[in-house]
Amino acid sequence: MWVIFGREKEEKPLGEVVTGYCYDCRRSTNWIVWNESEWVTFSDIRTLRFVNKNRLHCESCTLVFELSRREFRKINRHMKCHDSIDGTRLAKKLMSRIEKEQLAGKTPEQIKYIRKSMAAIKDYEETMRLQEDRDA
Ligand SMILES: [Zn+2]
Repeated sequence: MWVIFGREKEEKPLGEVVTGYCYDCRRSTNWIVWNESEWVTFSDIRTLRFVNKNRLHCESCTLVFELSRREFRKINRHMKCHDSIDGTRLAKKLMSRIEKEQLAGKTPEQIKYIRKSMAAIKDYEETMRLQEDRDA
């Protein structure tokens, strides 16, 4: 009997888990967990998984963050009975890690500018909301 060895790679989105600000595309966005796995196959049957990684993708741009096994396990556990991890301590931790990594290469001036424009957008949205309330 022939046994054909092969490799099979699979990348698939598992779903949106959290909303948060992306400093690369400058907007509040959904973050999606992706799983990447790679298998050794024998005659096309997946036998041994030797890569199993999880990442967070920004939905609006191509930004990617590696998730540790521990982070993924926590997200996974929470998602079994919730629609998202929004508002959890885990979400807060993840978003602050993303923020730190995204702002790591920026100068203090750039960070100041980003914070200022974020505040301006917030103000603008607030004004619009008040106006809508008044018109209603
Ligand atoms: Zn983005």
